[in-house]
Amino acid sequence: MYAIGLRTRFRGIDVREGVLIEGPNGWGEFAPFAEYGPEECRPWLRAAQEAAFGTWPAPVRDRIPVNVTVPACDPARAFEIVAASGCRTAKVKVAERGQSLADDLARVEAVRDALGPAGRIRVDANGGWDTDEAVAAIALLHRFELEYVEQPCATVPELAAVRRRVDVPVAADESIRRAEDPLLVAKAGAADIAVVKVAPLGGVRAALEIVDAIGLPAVVSSAIDTSVGIAAGVALAAALPELPYACGLATVALLHDDVVADPFLPIDGHLTVRRPTPDPARLDAVAASPETAARWHERIAAVERVEQNR
Ligand SMILES: [Mg+2]
Repeated sequence: MYAIGLRTRFRGIDVREGVLIEGPNGWGEFAPFAEYGPEECRPWLRAAQEAAFGTWPAPVRDRIPVNVTVPACDPARAFEIVAASGCRTAKVKVAERGQSLADDLARVEAVRDALGPAGRIRVDANGGWDTDEAVAAIALLHRFELEYVEQPCATVPELAAVRRRVDVPVAADESIRRAEDPLLVAKAGAADIAVVKVAPLGGVRAALEIVDAIGLPAVVSSAIDTSVGIAAGVALAAALPELPYACGLATVALLHDDVVADPFLPIDGHLTVRRPTPDPARLDAVAASPETAARWHERIAAVERVEQNR
């Protein structure tokens, strides 16, 4: 059971909590967000159990290109973050509440300067635009050459509408939260690219099958996991037949601590395919309080009750 502080607030939380499950085949991570009920947590538990008791598909590559993430910061800071990262792909947050399109343009321009012409830039609006705003913003931001725009609007019909009106590929992220979502997104013509996370899709093997079924290129992303959870994302990215885009798996640095001694930090813009094991000293250092642990035991029991009653 761990509780680790976040360096920057994310989804309105400052502390990331979760459970590590050890089985004969390794460690799994169960860390659904607090607002998820037992039904929604089922695939998250399946993914953790697959890691501990099951097997992952064989890798077809030994390193995974990853993107650096640039928050909605000022241009100078954006330049620094990208230059220090060693990554050749940057994901830049845009459409932040309280900021203007001019702020987004200045930030993306700074990122282009830091990456040079060969680098790739994707922007992530987290659903912050309506369709007209998205079309107008993308037209201007594409001056800096975007590889794709992630979740420009909140809903699937809006994504489909934007996709019909712009040349820049559209990626669905928040629109994919359950196993059935990728197919809905693909059927609606709402995305060119699917952002996929192992835990909500029910494990590495389940996610691999879903990606195969929808026939869209996938960008494997994390749910801000420790390196144990990242290992599952790395396993999926390593097993995908095609991996045309850098993945969003370079996120352990967003946490103040980790459960392994050798965290998944990018080297030269890549993560090496491997499976680190938790370090006893780190597990002690990040151990959750007894009250938190009791709450998580109850969460897991609730998921198991749902599972048994099906
Ligand atoms: Mg996103």
